[in-house]
Amino acid sequence: MQVEERLRAEIVEVGRRVYDRGFVASNDGNISVRLDDDRLLMTPTGVSKGFMTPDMLVTTDMAGRKLTGDREASSEILMHLAVYELRPDIKAVVHAHPPTATGFAVAGIPLDRAVLAEVVTTLGSIPIADYGTPSTTELADAVRHYISAHDGLLLANHGALTVAQELFAAYYKMETVEHFARISLVARQLGGERVLSREEVDRLQNLRDRYGVTAPAPLCPPGQEEGADVTCQTVHAPSSPDARLVAAAPETRAGALDLDDEVRLTYRELTALIADAVKQLR
Ligand SMILES: [Zn+2]
Repeated sequence: MQVEERLRAEIVEVGRRVYDRGFVASNDGNISVRLDDDRLLMTPTGVSKGFMTPDMLVTTDMAGRKLTGDREASSEILMHLAVYELRPDIKAVVHAHPPTATGFAVAGIPLDRAVLAEVVTTLGSIPIADYGTPSTTELADAVRHYISAHDGLLLANHGALTVAQELFAAYYKMETVEHFARISLVARQLGGERVLSREEVDRLQNLRDRYGVTAPAPLCPPGQEEGADVTCQTVHAPSSPDARLVAAAPETRAGALDLDDEVRLTYRELTALIADAVKQLR
């Protein structure tokens, strides 16, 4: 079978799986593979990913211009192009809206706790790329910020994105992201996760080398956060030489306030608050 024919069949199959698993609704989601140095194979816009046929797919050049196909390429192609530009190692991109992972993305809670060994070794942390209007360069730029150091991202108030050296690996990472999100949600409903210690995470990182797992980036050294140029991964795993499992710190939601944080009010706002409180007293 010709390589392109095989990849067309694989995209159709992955589309069916993301639809059947409820990772997308209606015409959501998009999938692409790198055919060679100059061409991408991409899902079309306006089609349910659960009901595609190989002939519906579109080929484009690396600037997103259509080469072949009766339909138009996905409106999210800019996000895919950003990945291929920054990650020459990547051959496939899957974007979907899996409900639990997307719930974390909507709540502003990244999946960055060291909880499950297989997630630590394969994906590491899954941060949240800033909100960008879908199909614009905003969203592509938000992805650019993290993609050099991460194979899985949440997209704020939107969905998730996974990338890999081949299509099924990218799809399996999407399954892992959603599975991890579901387990994290249940653990939090039951009172919160215990997380792996930093020392255990280091141990897993060493195993990663032994098993030949290629991860996009190392963990950021303790105390060093991801900067403007994200080249390492931030994973919540407190140091604990004695115990491998540690209680996780309370939720740190993006934009949430800590009880010790300083809040500044204008005189007008303060007066309104006092007037309100007095009214409640009456
Ligand atoms: Zn989307």
